[in-house]
Amino acid sequence: MKKDVPSEILNVLSTLEEKGFAAYLVGGCVRDLIRGKTPKDWDVTTDATPEEIQSVFPDSFYENDFGTVGVKTESEDPTLKVVEITPYRVESTYSNARHPDEVTFSKNLEDDLKRRDFTMNAIAYSPKNDLVVDPYGGEEAIRLKRIIAVGNAQERFSEDALRMLRAIRLAAELNFAIESETAAAIAASAPLITKVSAERVRDELSRIVASPTPMQAVFLAQRLGLLTHIIPELEEGINCEQNQAHSYDVFEHLLRSLQHAADKEYSFHVRLSALLHDVGKPASRRYDDEKKDYTFYGHEVIGARMTKKILTRLKFSTETIDVVERLVRWHMFFSDPDQITLSAVRRMIRNVGVDHIQELLELRTCDRIGTGRPKEQPFRFRKYKSMVDEALRDPISVGMLKIDGTHVIEILGSGPGPKVGWILHALLEEVLDDPTRNTHEYLSSRAETLAQLPPEELQTLGEQGRSRREEEDTKEVEALRKKHHVT
Ligand code: ATP
Ligand code: MG
Repeated sequence: MKKDVPSEILNVLSTLEEKGFAAYLVGGCVRDLIRGKTPKDWDVTTDATPEEIQSVFPDSFYENDFGTVGVKTESEDPTLKVVEITPYRVESTYSNARHPDEVTFSKNLEDDLKRRDFTMNAIAYSPKNDLVVDPYGGEEAIRLKRIIAVGNAQERFSEDALRMLRAIRLAAELNFAIESETAAAIAASAPLITKVSAERVRDELSRIVASPTPMQAVFLAQRLGLLTHIIPELEEGINCEQNQAHSYDVFEHLLRSLQHAADKEYSFHVRLSALLHDVGKPASRRYDDEKKDYTFYGHEVIGARMTKKILTRLKFSTETIDVVERLVRWHMFFSDPDQITLSAVRRMIRNVGVDHIQELLELRTCDRIGTGRPKEQPFRFRKYKSMVDEALRDPISVGMLKIDGTHVIEILGSGPGPKVGWILHALLEEVLDDPTRNTHEYLSSRAETLAQLPPEELQTLGEQGRSRREEEDTKEVEALRKKHHVT
């Protein structure tokens, strides 16, 4: 199966071989070569110890517990800049479903392949001899697009429970199916996933969300019993019937929205918020006797709070948490162009952030498609979008005002301090109402007037935008809690 292997990699392999060591490509890169795809990274395995590898490659680094040595190459290609070389390893006992108690090196290639997760990943390849070492029938599994555990699936999942989620992630990325015995073993071992660190779960979940087929993958994670240990909040949406505008229950609606985000190749933030945007619906559902239908008032407020909790628990970055929470919070924005004013649109943009308004519009599209409505962008929504474009030419954030902090400090004759921010935000509120006020002259004279106000009054003015929103949120949540008889 002569495969295309870059010269940088061939050099690393032959350098090891010249010193008398065995050297093979192994893992994902061999799998990808067999599939006819270009590997994202290249892993080399060898019978040399980490110290021996380092002596063969002086320009290398070794700073982990797994024996992996990184070798720097001259390559411009980022996937080739560092080649990772790992000695053959055997993994001994596992006592925590997370990682082996100790890492032991071996002189045997078969030992190393045996510890790998799936047969498709347990193939070694030597380009020089065009030799494939495939003791578990991995090539066949790749041909059949099957994910099959190496050895006893249940034992392998009890050694490292993350492998269960890796199976689903790899299925989503490669468009493979999980073989039935391996799938049954996941179903039987699913609760073990709770032993895995949130960071490792987050990384696999992120790749599922970023894959071309996230809907199928999350459905599968649910069916095999993993989802309930990762985002149980999503399962509340199963059989949570919606109002007449919807064809699907909340869970399926969320997955269809997510899938549309993937089909459109929208950003990770849009995808994640598509998955979570209605997570607050089950908790806010009421039956309205007059309407003879369900209502979900405030679900975006509850949903935003739940989103923050979920993503914090899964150790997502503060930036991701902040953006996704905001997108969920504002996904119900009012978009009837015949009834809305430009200043309301400007406030909308201010709420979600200039940098995220595009994503909010994309999320709305996903929401619509996920509902089962045929048209993606009806006329009125296009009209709303053009209003957004128009509003974006107006000042929407403090940074876009024709006055800056330095000048406000001069006017105040003191600072920096909270007063400066209050004045700038109070000025922004005025400009959001009427953008023609955004002149240096007008804002300077208003700043002078504001500077005379007692601090408490100034603070109220400066925080009006934010506090108005927070007050509304709090009221809404309180009302919902009362209905639920919880405090
Ligand atoms: P990709 O790079 O596309 O994510 P990959 O299969 O290369 O896919 P890596 O996480 O880079 O995945 O892992 C490299 C190889 O290490 C895998 O192909 C597999 O052989 C092995 N491996 C990784 N994680 C595990 C694990 N948890 N248990 C057993 N083997 C693993
Ligand atoms: Mg890899």
